[in-house]
Amino acid sequence: MDIRRLLRSDLDDLEEYTPVKPLDVLAREIGLPVDQLVKLDANENLYGAPAAVFEAIAKADLHIYPDPGQTSLREAIAAFVAVAPEQVVAGTGADDLIDILIRLTLPEAVVIPTPAFGMYSFLARISRARPMEVPRGPDFGLDLAAVAGAVDGGARLVFLTSPNNPTGNLLTRAEAETLCSMDALIVVDEAYIEFGGVSVVPLIAEHPNLVVLRTFSKWAGLAGLRVGYAIADASLAVRMMAIKQPYSVSVAADVAAQAAIAHRAEIFETVRCIVAERDRMATRLADLGWLTPLPSAANFVLVHVEGREARAVRDGLRRRGVLVRYYDRPDLANYIRISTGRPEDTERLLQALHDLEAE
Ligand code: PMP
Repeated sequence: MDIRRLLRSDLDDLEEYTPVKPLDVLAREIGLPVDQLVKLDANENLYGAPAAVFEAIAKADLHIYPDPGQTSLREAIAAFVAVAPEQVVAGTGADDLIDILIRLTLPEAVVIPTPAFGMYSFLARISRARPMEVPRGPDFGLDLAAVAGAVDGGARLVFLTSPNNPTGNLLTRAEAETLCSMDALIVVDEAYIEFGGVSVVPLIAEHPNLVVLRTFSKWAGLAGLRVGYAIADASLAVRMMAIKQPYSVSVAADVAAQAAIAHRAEIFETVRCIVAERDRMATRLADLGWLTPLPSAANFVLVHVEGREARAVRDGLRRRGVLVRYYDRPDLANYIRISTGRPEDTERLLQALHDLEAE
């Protein structure tokens, strides 16, 4: 029996999201021990989560289902962000909230200023929404007229990121105001806001069509646990709560996120180290003479490669156990994105680049 006729044919040629692989899988592929890999490909916090997070998970009642109302988690996040608990929705990472917003609106088209995080177009396609890519302009700035044109053409959902992944630049307050005046749901993904920039959360009070996404994956070092949240007008948040999977945030993720908030001072110490290290790394990369890092407000830098193939640089680094991100798309031709780790991670990266030069 050919089961293909039982499945959606529009997903036959779905462009798959290119995920990053975990360390053990990569170690096997590259043929190096796990402890020799330097993971600078997924913008994780390489300092890891504080001990208090592990203690909270160890004490959690894992045999009991999580609270579908996310009562204490929403209260903790609300106090952390200075909004009301009714404005918060937690999910299985920010990715889950992107999916919820698409399914809540089921738009014909989704506007995505590009280059952008690939999950927006991937999840849009799965929900039969057409991703309308609006190219960013010089220095990867937003083309607001093009976004407005797409919205006037009927697109009712806009996804953008600040600081943007992978370009590292910020949305300005004036740009955010202009976007919010458009007749669409405006989703500002602040996955990296803890590393730089000013949040647009205060604009939600005047603009109920604005939704802000955040995550514990980056600043708090909890990427493996999968917990993120949305902040929205209460009238929108209640609708998101209504369609989310009831138990999407596991008990472990719930208590870990609350512990991260309670111990945020310790985590923000690592965030400060990462920000300082990002700038040191950028200077050292520029010193090489063939790499041009773009200014970044996030925990990674987008780097233009001169006189060599970016893909070959990615492959050469990988053979030496240093993992960075390469994008096979024309608007990022000859760029690589390098996440910021600890000083020793930067040293391994620089050593690998020197070796590569001598090849
Ligand atoms: N938004 C952006 C812009 C990201 O870069 C990422 C992670 N790569 C996410 C969301 C996903 O966050 P989470 O791990 O919370 O699903």
